[in-house]
Amino acid sequence: MLHHSTELSTVVIVGSGIAGASAAQTLRADGFRGRVVVIGDEPSPPYRRPAVSKDLLSGATTAEKNALKPDSFWANNDIELITGATAVGLDTRARRLTLSSGETLHYSALLLATGGRARRLDGVSGAQVFTLRSMRDAESLRESIRRTGSLLVIGGGLIGCEVAATARSLGADVTVLERDPSLLGRIVPPAVSSMVAALHRENGVDVCTDVALSSLDVRDGSARATADDGRSWSAGTVLVSVGTVPEVTLAAAAGLRVHDGITVDEQFRTSADGVYAAGDAANIPATGGDRYRSEHWNAAQAQGIAAARSILGTPQPFTDVPWGWSIQYGHNVQFAGATRFDDDYVVRGSIADRDFTAIAVRGDVPVGAVAVGRPKELRTVRTLIAQGHGAPPPVSTY
Ligand SMILES: Cc1cc2nc3c(=O)[nH]c(=O)nc-3n(C[C@H](O)[C@H](O)[C@H](O)COP(=O)(O)OP(=O)(O)OC[C@H]3O[C@@H](n4cnc5c(N)ncnc54)[C@H](O)[C@@H]3O)c2cc1C
Repeated sequence: MLHHSTELSTVVIVGSGIAGASAAQTLRADGFRGRVVVIGDEPSPPYRRPAVSKDLLSGATTAEKNALKPDSFWANNDIELITGATAVGLDTRARRLTLSSGETLHYSALLLATGGRARRLDGVSGAQVFTLRSMRDAESLRESIRRTGSLLVIGGGLIGCEVAATARSLGADVTVLERDPSLLGRIVPPAVSSMVAALHRENGVDVCTDVALSSLDVRDGSARATADDGRSWSAGTVLVSVGTVPEVTLAAAAGLRVHDGITVDEQFRTSADGVYAAGDAANIPATGGDRYRSEHWNAAQAQGIAAARSILGTPQPFTDVPWGWSIQYGHNVQFAGATRFDDDYVVRGSIADRDFTAIAVRGDVPVGAVAVGRPKELRTVRTLIAQGHGAPPPVSTY
C-alpha cells in the first residue's frame, strides 16, 4: 500500500526482540539498501528470551552466549541498533517517532515489534516480589532465590513451571500455587497436566492447585500467601507468573486500532498508513475469520520476517502454524496450533512414559498437538494442520 505512493528510504523498528531483529535481518537479506534503525529499551542487543526462565536464570549460560548474534553483526549489516532507548511518541501523519532522549526519527515504514510484559497482580509488590520477562529480571530473581533459598510461584503456566524447575536446580524450596485445578490447564488435556504435576512433585516441588489467593503479605524478608480455604504458604521470594499482556502503549497513544494487541491485517499492516506490527504485540488474522495473538518465539520470528516482506512490497501468504516449546527437568514439551483442554485428543505413544504426541481434534480435523520427546511427529502434525484447514486461534500460553 505504502510503496506505491511513498519511496521506501528509512525503516524504523521499535523493539529489539526476535520479531524486530528478524525483520531487520530480512530487510537486508532481501536486498533493501535504505536506512534500517532498530530501537530497543533493554540495555543489551537482541538475545534469546526463552533462556530467561531456563539457562539464564540458572546461570548455566551467560548473556554473551545467549546473544542472538555476535555484536558485530548489526554494524556489519548496516543496521543501526539503538539500545536503552524507549520510543515514547508516534505521529503517524508526520511519520515521526520520538525517543525518550528527545531525539526524533522520520520513517517511511515503521514496524512495532514491542512484544509483551508480565501481567502483575493488583496490590502485590515488595522487594522480594518478581515478574519475569527480561534478562535483567532473571538476574534479580536468581539473586533473590539464592539469597532466600525458597520460592513461591504464583501461577502454574509455562513460565511458572519452568521457573519452578530451574529454582529446584538451584536448590531452593519451591511451591507452585495455581488457581485452576491443574497446571498448564488451559492448554493441555488433563492427562498431560497430571503428568506435568507428577514430574514437578517427583522433583520436590509442592504443587498446590485450586488456590484462590485471598492475601499476600510481604514484609521483613518473607512473604506469606493465604488462600480462601485457609491454606497458607511462606517463602523468601515470590514470582508472579500470571500471564503476559501485549505492549501497546505507543500504538494506543498514537490512535492505532488495538484489541488484545495491535490489530493488523494479513500483511501485518496496522490501521495507520506505513505502520506495521508483528510478534507478541500483534493481533493477527487466522484462517476462517478469527484473530489471535501468539506468544511463542518461532511465531514472533516468522511474523517479523513476513512483516519485513510486506514492507518491501513482496508480501507472502502467512500460513504459519504457531508452535512453541517448554523445557522442564530435561523434558522438551512442544505445542502446535490451537490446543485446548476440552478438545478431543488422539494419543500416539504413552503419556505415562513421557514419550507421546497428543493430537487435538475438532470434528475430524487436527487443530493442534502437544508432544513430549517427539519433535518430528509434531512437525508432521503442523504440516497436516497447515495443509488441511489452517490453524485456528491458539490459546495464549506464555
Ligand atoms: C521467560 C520466558 C520464557 C519463554 N520461553 C519460551 C519457550 O521456551 N518457547 C517459546 O516458544 N517461547 C517462549 N517464550 C515466548 C517468546 O520469548 C516470545 O514469544 C518472544 O520473545 C516474542 O518476541 P517479540 O519480538 O514479539 O517480543 P519481545 O521479545 O517481548 O521483544 C520486544 C522488545 O521491545 C521492547 N520495547 C517495548 N516497547 C518499547 C518501546 N516503546 N521502545 C523501545 N523498546 C520497546 C521490549 O522491552 C522488548 O525488548 C518465553 C517468554 C518468556 C518471557
